Amino acid sequence: MENTDNTASSAGLTRRRALTAAGGALAAAYLAGAVPASAAESQDADAIVVGHGLAGLVATAELAAAGHKVLLLDQEPEASLGGQAFWSFGGLFFVDSAEQRLMGVKDSHDLAWQDWLGTAGFDRGIADPAGQDYWAYKWAEAYVDFASGEKRSWLAGLGMQWFPIVGWAERGGGLADGHGNSVPRFHVTWGTGPAVVEPFEKKVRAAVSAGNVTFKFRHRVDGLVTTAGAVTGVRGAILEPSSVARGKSSSRTVVGEFELRAPVVIVTSGGIGANHDLVRANWPARMGTPPKSMITGVPAHVDGRMLAITEQAGGRIVNPDRMWHYTEGLQNYDPIWPKHGIRILPGPSSMWFDATGKRFSSPDIPGYDTLHTLKTITDTGYDYSWFVTTQKIIAKEFALSGSEQNPDLTNKDIWMLLSRIWQTPEPIERFKKNGADFVVADNLTALVAGMNKLTGDNLIDLTDLKRQIDARDREIDNPYTKDAQVMGIRNALNYPGDTLSRTAAIHKITDSSAGPLIAVRLNILTRKTLGGLQTDLSGRVLHQSGNPIPGLYAAGEVAGFGGGGVHGYRSLEGTFLGGCLFSGRQAGKAAAAAL
Ligand SMILES: Cc1cc2nc3c(=O)[nH]c(=O)nc-3n(C[C@H](O)[C@H](O)[C@H](O)COP(=O)(O)OP(=O)(O)OC[C@H]3O[C@@H](n4cnc5c(N)ncnc54)[C@H](O)[C@@H]3O)c2cc1C
Repeated sequence: MENTDNTASSAGLTRRRALTAAGGALAAAYLAGAVPASAAESQDADAIVVGHGLAGLVATAELAAAGHKVLLLDQEPEASLGGQAFWSFGGLFFVDSAEQRLMGVKDSHDLAWQDWLGTAGFDRGIADPAGQDYWAYKWAEAYVDFASGEKRSWLAGLGMQWFPIVGWAERGGGLADGHGNSVPRFHVTWGTGPAVVEPFEKKVRAAVSAGNVTFKFRHRVDGLVTTAGAVTGVRGAILEPSSVARGKSSSRTVVGEFELRAPVVIVTSGGIGANHDLVRANWPARMGTPPKSMITGVPAHVDGRMLAITEQAGGRIVNPDRMWHYTEGLQNYDPIWPKHGIRILPGPSSMWFDATGKRFSSPDIPGYDTLHTLKTITDTGYDYSWFVTTQKIIAKEFALSGSEQNPDLTNKDIWMLLSRIWQTPEPIERFKKNGADFVVADNLTALVAGMNKLTGDNLIDLTDLKRQIDARDREIDNPYTKDAQVMGIRNALNYPGDTLSRTAAIHKITDSSAGPLIAVRLNILTRKTLGGLQTDLSGRVLHQSGNPIPGLYAAGEVAGFGGGGVHGYRSLEGTFLGGCLFSGRQAGKAAAAAL
């Protein structure tokens, strides 16, 4: 039997010898998923959770509720507790919810499952236990059951509430049984991301007070300790204390080393979105050429390091080429993290052009088919595209994804929220005024001059852009249009939720009463990792052989939100936070039961 750790502290060495002495007999007993109690004298806790984002908080809360002692480690300081979820818009995918029914939306488990399958496009061995999609598919079934069943009541029971107007994200590629949401399903949490984190943070803090959980901030895990094929602990570097504000990059100066032992280790370390090298290395040909220039939709801690570290301990990574990056990124004029980008969640009316001024065709319409549009953009050879739009459209249709960009929803400020009815939200106006990507003009000639000046590429031809805008505007007077985007706007206006809050009354782009004209350069913004560590339905990390690695669990984005790829190739949106909640709970419960 060999202990693979080679950087242990002297305390760790003592523990390691104890484990080594326990001999191979342990190995067989590990099959339950955790090191047996006989190793207890050498352990620092019952469980170690690596990563204090949403998935880690949920898993920790489950373990603590079962009476287990947990060490919750993170490389970041306490200020960043909650990870990405704090910054999120708090959008959650529910099926047949009270909010949907209130808006007259008819949804069902079967419709959601059809949409999930049409969107995921699982094609890597769903019936083959060695297939990359084998567990992903099982997780997808379980997740759609969860989203159609107990998800909402569980969260409501924890005090969460949702904005009553359900959003219609990712409307898809145009086929009833293909990609996209057949109906609105994006439920924005009242209080956005912080309100998703809050109940779980509260539970964990209560467990800290009760002595069941210990925070270990500034503990960066650099390796998993394995003993006889089982994971029995973690080792790594203690980083110097940091007082940086939430989301800011913290220093990586090492002031010490640590090694900690526990019969259960749960990896909840997030994805790869801040590591552009990893994003490019995993970029699949089907998404075109990797962009040379991207902006970043996640804090720097989303560095992807734990994937390789877990792989070294035998964990199997599947579907690494599946990612979810956005095409409507704005450079943040007031960045929190490096290359900080903000995604516009667009309504359907802005006209969308490539860098040369050629209008996109269906399904590359705002809010329809994220990855199809990404491929269309990368195929142009340019890393950006353009919205050409009006003040009237941005006032109603631009939502910015991020808790800090929605002070009304985040602070539960009803009056500020109502002011969206008569004025453009302040954060949008600030981007318009200060952002590097906006051009505002009273006429098309000046707009095109501004667009060409902004990029310096001089690719937009006024006559050609005007021809395309006039052609689209002519269709506003045609009740039987063939323009798919105009049809889409009319379809959106059939949904009261869109009419109320997300779709401007249909109008001509050149209508001067809707102005000024606005052009927005859209950058490619990295965000989510859809593949990751392959896990079974208990969250146990699988070995290359397909068997669970004793003692090792994973949840959240690092596990592809469950099974190494619950989303398949694409997402229906609002499924990521829910994926952390669901997979974090599954792993926490299963690990607690195995202890
Ligand atoms: C701006 C924004 C808006 C979003 N909006 C939505 C939305 O509306 N709906 C939705 O469903 N999803 C949304 N998401 C996505 C969602 O928030 C994330 O996918 C999810 O929160 C990921 O959670 P996690 O716990 O898996 O990982 P993370 O939140 O990334 O947490 C992982 C933690 O692990 C730590 N860590 C990593 N490596 C190590 C190591 N080696 N040692 C120690 N610690 C380590 C990190 O420091 C971090 O704290 C949004 C994300 C962002 C950024």
